[in-house]
Amino acid sequence: MSDHGKSRKEIRDELKELQQEFLSSIIDIDDKKRIQLEQELMIAIQGVSLQNEENAKRAAELIIANLELKFLNEEKAKRAAELVIANIELVFQNNEKSKRAAELIIANKELVFQNSEKAKRAAELVIANIELVFQNEEKEKRASELIIANKELVFQNEEKSRIAAKLIDANKQLIFQNEEKEKRAAELILAKEKAEKSDLLKTAFLANMSHEIRTPMNGILGFAELLKETELTAEIQQEYLEVIKKSGGRMLNLINNIISISKIESGLMETDLQESNVNTQIDFIHAFFKPQIEKKGIQFLIKKTLYGEEALIKSDPEKIYGILTNLVNNAIKYSEVGVIEVGYNLKSTEDSVDLEFYVKDKGIGIPEERQIAIFERFIQADISDKMALEGAGLGLSISKAYVELLGGKIWVESEDGVGSTFYFTIPYQKAKAKKPTKTIFLADKTEKILKPKDYRLKLLIAEDDKISSMLITAMVKKYSTVIFQAKTGLEAVEICKNNPDIDLILMDIQMPELNGFEATRKIREFNKDVVIIAQTASVLTDDREKIIEDGCDDYISKPINKSELLSLIQKYFDTYHVA
Ligand code: ADP
Repeated sequence: MSDHGKSRKEIRDELKELQQEFLSSIIDIDDKKRIQLEQELMIAIQGVSLQNEENAKRAAELIIANLELKFLNEEKAKRAAELVIANIELVFQNNEKSKRAAELIIANKELVFQNSEKAKRAAELVIANIELVFQNEEKEKRASELIIANKELVFQNEEKSRIAAKLIDANKQLIFQNEEKEKRAAELILAKEKAEKSDLLKTAFLANMSHEIRTPMNGILGFAELLKETELTAEIQQEYLEVIKKSGGRMLNLINNIISISKIESGLMETDLQESNVNTQIDFIHAFFKPQIEKKGIQFLIKKTLYGEEALIKSDPEKIYGILTNLVNNAIKYSEVGVIEVGYNLKSTEDSVDLEFYVKDKGIGIPEERQIAIFERFIQADISDKMALEGAGLGLSISKAYVELLGGKIWVESEDGVGSTFYFTIPYQKAKAKKPTKTIFLADKTEKILKPKDYRLKLLIAEDDKISSMLITAMVKKYSTVIFQAKTGLEAVEICKNNPDIDLILMDIQMPELNGFEATRKIREFNKDVVIIAQTASVLTDDREKIIEDGCDDYISKPINKSELLSLIQKYFDTYHVA
């Protein structure tokens, strides 16, 4: 170790030794010299001490520098280690790069190859492009040619469309005409079939009518002839008169049926819906037919299933009455024994509530194969049957038409030789609780006839037909004091003018010079009070309405029924001319 490495103590010890040595060497030197030496020694010691301090400082600095170096060295070692690692990394990266470079060289070669290919292809494409440009130009030329051609086609197409539309229209027209023709042809076929059928029916009708008219006429004329014989007893006279009356009734029934059928055929048959009591109708049928049925030894039963307001219905009571009358008439006509029952039941289905009427008999019955045909016009179940010969075969077809007009159905359940039940339905339409109107008229027929002494009327009978005039005169003679006769409308007006106290005019509608309508209008100009009852053979509702409009108070249908006429007189003079 150098001096720099000696501690202060060692240095001081060395200095003391040097001092001793020095002092021992100088003992012989005089004092002066010795003092000088001592001073020099002191200076030397001070110099050495100064040097020592410098050395110590220096040593401390060296230590620090040493530490500094040591630290730097360590840092360098670390850095060196890091550099080694970084180096290794770089070596690795270098290797990778070399590999990549090799790959890139290959890829580059490939690209060079591809590039040259592409260049070739580009050259080809340039050629192709030129070709395409040429073709394009050609195509454009062609396209413009096509546009022109297209316009031409569009124009032609429009023309064609227009023609097509016209053709479609014409076609439709033709189809329509064809359909119309087909319809017409079908109608013609139907009409032909109908005509053929109606031809047959006409023949049957004529044969039937001839029979139906001749039979009662035979009775009327024959028995009228017999009545002329003076030696007849009063009883026999009554018997003959009864036959004449019955035969007349039969003819009237036939005429009424023919009128009904022709009204149905021409669509003129209308319904007159009003409120009525279904029980009153059944009661009336019962009262009306009971004597006739019981006379035959047959029991007559009725069944009513609705009561009170429930029995008030809205329908056409005259038609229901007509159907029931016809069915009961047939039941009487075609049975000799047992029971006849008339009634009704309420039948409800999912969609409707109906009144189902029935007329049941224990008569001859109807073979199954004829059960539908009997509802057709002029058809009788068995023409060879003697009983069937009495009748024109119209009743059931009229009944069927009436039922259908009222919105119902009619059918029969029957067994040959056992009996028949005829059913018909009408929709059950409840009426408000109000007094029925027309059914009163039905009931009127059963009311007792007036007593002759009750009235003293001044009458005018306006009637051009002598027999009719005679008949009415005979009917009303007992109820009048004076009876004027007029043969024309004009005469009727004159008589009225001259006799303002006339109570009642029985005015015929069809008269010469002035008809009943016109005569009534004229009379009403100066006499508003006289009661005018029109007598008409017309069955048309319109005519009846016109009669009232023209000033008549009421009307009565021809042939005049005595009790009906008296009921009317009663209606207008009940409290007026009572004796
Ligand atoms: P007709 O005037 O002939 O009675 P209808 O139309 O009333 O005409 O009846 C047609 C036919 O139906 C009759 O001729 C008869 O053969 C048959 N017929 C109708 N009602 C009955 C009944 N209650 N019993 C048996 N046959 C009947």
